[in-house]
Amino acid sequence: MTGTAVGGGRPDQAGPGTVRPVVQLPPAVAAEHQAAVAALRESYAAIPAGAPVRLAKRTSNLFRFRDPLPRSGADGSGGPATAPGLDVSAFSRVLHVDPQARMAVVGGMTTYEDLADATLRHDLMPLVVPQLKTITLGGAVTGLGIESTSLRNGLPHESVTALEILTGDGRVVTATAEGEHADLFRGFPNSYGTLGYAVSLTIELEPVAPFVHLRHFAFTSPEACMDAVGQIAAEGSLDGHRADFVDGTAFGLDEIYLTVGAYSDVAPWRSDYTGQHIYYQSVRGPREDFLTIRDYLWRWDTDWFWCSRPFGVQNPVIRRLWPRRYRRSDVYRALVAFDRRHGLFDTLNANRGRPPREAVIQDVEIPLDRSAEFLRFFAAEVGMSPVWLCPLQLRSHNAWPLYPLKPGVTYVNFGFWGTVSLPPGRADGYHNRLVEAEVAALGGSKGLYSTSFYSEDDFWAVYNGAAYARLKHAYDAGGKLSGLYDKCVRGR
Ligand SMILES: Cc1cc2nc3c(=O)[nH]c(=O)nc-3n(C[C@H](O)[C@H](O)[C@H](O)COP(=O)(O)OP(=O)(O)OC[C@H]3O[C@@H](n4cnc5c(N)ncnc54)[C@H](O)[C@@H]3O)c2cc1C
Repeated sequence: MTGTAVGGGRPDQAGPGTVRPVVQLPPAVAAEHQAAVAALRESYAAIPAGAPVRLAKRTSNLFRFRDPLPRSGADGSGGPATAPGLDVSAFSRVLHVDPQARMAVVGGMTTYEDLADATLRHDLMPLVVPQLKTITLGGAVTGLGIESTSLRNGLPHESVTALEILTGDGRVVTATAEGEHADLFRGFPNSYGTLGYAVSLTIELEPVAPFVHLRHFAFTSPEACMDAVGQIAAEGSLDGHRADFVDGTAFGLDEIYLTVGAYSDVAPWRSDYTGQHIYYQSVRGPREDFLTIRDYLWRWDTDWFWCSRPFGVQNPVIRRLWPRRYRRSDVYRALVAFDRRHGLFDTLNANRGRPPREAVIQDVEIPLDRSAEFLRFFAAEVGMSPVWLCPLQLRSHNAWPLYPLKPGVTYVNFGFWGTVSLPPGRADGYHNRLVEAEVAALGGSKGLYSTSFYSEDDFWAVYNGAAYARLKHAYDAGGKLSGLYDKCVRGR
């Protein structure tokens, strides 16, 4: 970063003509940050050509597990670092919140838990706060996060006004919507750390109310549910309830809920889903609920949506014994990573004579007018439930080159995270390939945080190989960082 001024520029995603103020870092913070950037640049330069580059991060929300490298950190290995990777710990804090401008400058590896706490102190929050506490701002921008404000506010990268990036070729550049590095600014989302690492990001914030008033609407068919999503997209409300937040849970084709949340200054009662009650079960009734804004943001984290179930934590007896501080998504993910390393579940399954299971852990976006079809396909071919639904629309008037969502189109994100039995004679990847093919047939797209099975040609046709090749050449011509296909499909 040069000087103390970051951000500014004119991000087209904020609407034509919107000029965001430049954010000044306090001088001491700016000096410390610049020293940390210089140190990072030096340690990056010291990594020999051909050696794998990994971030030494404590947490990860990737679902591509690979064997820990001798010098790897948490960058997708899912395992403990056996030797330090690239030390990015200096970039895991909020550098500055400017409540007047409603902007923040944030280290790239700052978790949303820390970021939300820092901004909620000013009654502000990022425009999109992904549901899992240890997702980081840099991870959500380079890996495309989503949440229940995404119908109003788009995706996390669409409220970024400046990205300070350590590029693959070792430079540190500030990319904004205009100027010399505008191509990198637009191509960074969905690049998964293969063009460079964001060391700081300047983001917009929005004002919050102390509470969220939830209403859970029940539907007995996917078609009825998607009609309601269309109504919310058009009117910003459902049945007179303002849709500041909207997501949904499908327990089956005839039991789907849309949860519509409105900011509220008052709460006649407040529910608590960090104790004995479980949030996802609450959407089945009663029909109305109130949460503090902080509890709302982390409503899914306590039980990792519903994925805490296999650990027994949803059993009332075990839940009472399980310490509250361990009811968190990062704890469950660490347990899954341990299992993947040691194959405990697979061994147990085989010893019991059960068919092998395939992990089907994906998020996909389908255009609203094909979304009911997707749910019917998924129920018939994969048959896993519940499924998370989250409507979204790009905030930007322009598409983002590396991810094929179209401006002005309403999509529904479907999230499904679990395992299913493989039919006899089918190999691992069977269900995931079916999902990839159906997503393509319905004009949708698939996030890349988990496993992918695309051929290289199909992959580049979906994720804009030509634009990626130009960016890779401009910012990492020597290929010090992995390529996107190698990283996301080959798991390198
Ligand atoms: C069960 C489950 C549910 C999920 N639900 C949601 C959800 O509801 N909403 C949502 O938004 N996401 C969700 N995700 C996906 C998650 O947002 C992505 O995996 C995200 O990329 C994780 O970010 P992280 O900060 O944990 O980064 P990591 O897991 O540490 O890294 C992710 C990738 O980003 C790269 N990276 C990390 N930091 C940076 C940086 N500063 N600059 C450049 N590259 C970087 C890494 O190299 C890596 O390739 C879910 C994932 C799972 C498994």
